[in-house]
Amino acid sequence: MILIGRSKWVPPRQWKLWSLPAPALGYVLGVDAVALTITALAVASTASGDHAGVRPSEWAAFAVLAVASVLHLESARGIERRREMAANTSPYTNLKSLWVFAGLLLLPLSLVIALVTVSYGYSWIRVYGRTIAHRKIFSAATFVLASAAASAVLRAGGLFSEPRVPTGLWSLTVVVAAMITWWLVNFALVIGAILLSAPDASARGALGDLSDQLVVVAGLGLGVAVGALQASYPWVVPILMVTVLALHRDLLLPQFQRAAGTDVKTGLATPSYWASAVPAELARAESLRSTVGLLMLDLDKFKEINDTYGHPAGDRALRAVGESVRAEVRQGDLVARVGGDELAVLLPGASEGEVLEVAERIRERLTTLTVSVDTATDATATITGVPASFGAAVYPDVAGTMDQLVMAADNALLTAKRAGRNKIVSARPNPPAVTENSITES
Ligand code: GH3
Ligand code: MG
Repeated sequence: MILIGRSKWVPPRQWKLWSLPAPALGYVLGVDAVALTITALAVASTASGDHAGVRPSEWAAFAVLAVASVLHLESARGIERRREMAANTSPYTNLKSLWVFAGLLLLPLSLVIALVTVSYGYSWIRVYGRTIAHRKIFSAATFVLASAAASAVLRAGGLFSEPRVPTGLWSLTVVVAAMITWWLVNFALVIGAILLSAPDASARGALGDLSDQLVVVAGLGLGVAVGALQASYPWVVPILMVTVLALHRDLLLPQFQRAAGTDVKTGLATPSYWASAVPAELARAESLRSTVGLLMLDLDKFKEINDTYGHPAGDRALRAVGESVRAEVRQGDLVARVGGDELAVLLPGASEGEVLEVAERIRERLTTLTVSVDTATDATATITGVPASFGAAVYPDVAGTMDQLVMAADNALLTAKRAGRNKIVSARPNPPAVTENSITES
């Protein structure tokens, strides 16, 4: 069942799944199919064999982990929804691995898969209601494959019966190998999907941040702790659970802050983040007797792209513009989306000449930018050139406060628009300046 938006049925022919590029579609369906096969085999193996059936203690452990993971999801719901939306073309990691890995130590594989289903099913209803179902089904499938691989490692290491907790050097090695296997399989499967379905996502972006992966590692480690405690001192588990919930906020705070400062559509900084960063940069420049370059750019006739190819295509072009601008500036420069089709670039330490050089590089790059998009009629089209007009201003040469600086750059941008667009105008206090591709600001 594929739902887009809560409780809204979408006929199979309109599933977003089919809009994936062919290799990505094959890959996703392949992984889903392998996960289903593993599930069937795991259920069959639990139902037959020497130790057929599930022991009462295993049902009890399953119930505890299922309830704990649901409580965990519920309490961190707000954070997780925002983190998930901000992840875009890098992996969205979460702490679900905690309960699943604890399950691997305590339960037969079939019940671990049931736990994955409970966890993803619940978060689909409560957390990710607005995202695309096939992605969540794929994520659950990667959990099933990772768990099956980790379970195979535990068995290969001789840890057959539950609880498979480390009790010596050898079992410790086996459990650590299972953790590494779980992480590697999950990570590789997710990266594969991102690279195949978003060809213009950079490999580095697809790998995500180290701190994202540390979340998974933390989850696996806590999973071993929960598993071991539940096997020997089950009444300590509630205390550990409260600790996990409390830590969740602190552990994820850096990502939460980053998510709050990131525009979901383009991955650029948000206006509020921008507004908080600019005064700090100006103050720093003042104490260093340095300069700060400001570049405002507004896409030319962007509405026409929306009108011609549809709004989603416009969104895709916006994202490509954001990536192009970022590619032309240095690491310490800040690129923000300050309006619908308006971006701002802050270039600490840049002189007017340098700001205009950067502007010219971006201007040229945008005029030749190509973006392949899906149009409203389901055809593929290529947008060639998403030009923009530029206004530049430098602190403290042009203005001494943030508001004045932004106003000066905005006025220069307006002049560039009036002069016929796809131009760069530099603001100067006195007299108004003329630069290449520009006319005098009035
Ligand atoms: P110009 O700037 O050259 O005067 O013309 P324009 O067509 O770009 O007009 P303007 O900058 O005034 O309007 C911006 C347009 O950008 C309006 C809207 O159609 C489009 N737009 C704004 N935000 C978004 C967005 O998030 N996604 C998409 N696809 N389009 C957007
Ligand atoms: Mg515009």
